[in-house]
Amino acid sequence: MSDKSLELRKNLETKGLDALFITNPANQRYLEGFTGADCFMLATCGKNYLIADSRYVEMAERECRDAEVLPHRAPNPPLQDVLSRLASGNGLRRIGFERERLAWGLYDDIEKALGGVGVELVPTSSLVEGIRAKKTEAEIELIEAACGIADRALDDVLPIIKPGISELDLKVELDYRMKIGGADDVSFDTMVLFGARPSQPHANSSRGARLKAGDFILIDYGACRDGYRSDTSRTFVFGKASDEQKLAYKTVLNAQEASLKKVFPGANGRDINDIALGIIKEAGLPAFGHGIGHGVGLEIHEEPSLRQNTDVFLEAGMVITIEPGSYKPGWGGIRIEDTVLVTPDGCRILTRFPKELMEL
Ligand code: ZN
Repeated sequence: MSDKSLELRKNLETKGLDALFITNPANQRYLEGFTGADCFMLATCGKNYLIADSRYVEMAERECRDAEVLPHRAPNPPLQDVLSRLASGNGLRRIGFERERLAWGLYDDIEKALGGVGVELVPTSSLVEGIRAKKTEAEIELIEAACGIADRALDDVLPIIKPGISELDLKVELDYRMKIGGADDVSFDTMVLFGARPSQPHANSSRGARLKAGDFILIDYGACRDGYRSDTSRTFVFGKASDEQKLAYKTVLNAQEASLKKVFPGANGRDINDIALGIIKEAGLPAFGHGIGHGVGLEIHEEPSLRQNTDVFLEAGMVITIEPGSYKPGWGGIRIEDTVLVTPDGCRILTRFPKELMEL
């Protein structure tokens, strides 16, 4: 059993569970190296089982570190029968499931079948995600590689930013540069927003939105390397920035730098959030409604979540974002975001694209 599976076993024992039914593909990948989708894992205290339909059986057998691969779906038995057989054969009485990751229809099917063999299904949270929050050296290397690819790709697309280019065109170019630069995928749907549109912190890039002088350009994007992700936001001004744009930018940058200084083992996410919020409010700017940051790894949003009114304590080895912003409908928005590693004595910023205001 891998170290990661052994840690999960400890979590199962603490919760009095005999096994965990894993539907989150990122957790399957973390524990077994399996990169497929739509499959199921049963992690027992002694062994992992990966339950795959015919599309994924060969892949699972090739990729899984230790798991036994079991086929399901016609001509094989349905998932619920495979699970009941495993439960009976291994004497499982209490099986946890991932409460945020199991659709009702599937829950209903397996609950009926497992109930029939005397198994109780127990909702759980974070049993694997909690382990994933602290990264290994190998994971940090991959995230750092992803950050480097993202930095270079943004640098590469700057020359094509010209009047009239659409948000969608710039997005496609940036995605392409990341992929030919070594990314196996993008981290998430790249966001390129012009003009006043960045007041919507998360919006879709549009074919119709075309760049003109004085526009804000907000880019939120990331590269994915062997499953591990980066997350960066940068805001530029196209042409000369107005005094108002300059002042707002400086404020958000100050807020980000103040938050970064608060990132160290033992720091509370709430404090990291509040210092940025305070600086932005004090300058009379609209404050961001999202959290100051989130964990990044196999998923773009993972633990820990750093936000208002929430105590969460950082540990060395966590990789998080720090991303304050300010958004005003009709005017625009600014967000400055880096991916950051918590180190024993503070933090190391993994995304290195410059942050002083660039007037393109
Ligand atoms: Zn982010």
